[in-house]
Amino acid sequence: MKNTRRTFFIQALSSAGALSAFALAKSINAQTPEMVAETDPTAVALGYKADASKVDKQKYPNYSAAQSCSGCALFQGKASDAAASCAAFGNKRVAGKGWCSAWTKKT
Ligand code: SF4
Repeated sequence: MKNTRRTFFIQALSSAGALSAFALAKSINAQTPEMVAETDPTAVALGYKADASKVDKQKYPNYSAAQSCSGCALFQGKASDAAASCAAFGNKRVAGKGWCSAWTKKT
């Protein structure tokens, strides 16, 4: 009898813990990282523009119109994604059509 009650409580606590962990994981997944603002200090330092055609070509002569975030090795999404996390910005999201001076060709 005592073992049955103990077993019941252990199972109940395990189930509650599993449910809490599931709810927490679901909550974390539901939070989409924020977009990087062009005014973000890191964005300013790297010359990030959400629209690559607005890049200061005088300041960044290495920029080419063929380069955009969607083709960058640090872009965490698919090439067709409008936005995705970027490792250069602590995984905040950047526009697929964006660009910054840390651009590195995806291989
Ligand atoms: S590192 Fe790459 S993906 Fe990130 S903002 Fe710069 S060009 Fe875009």
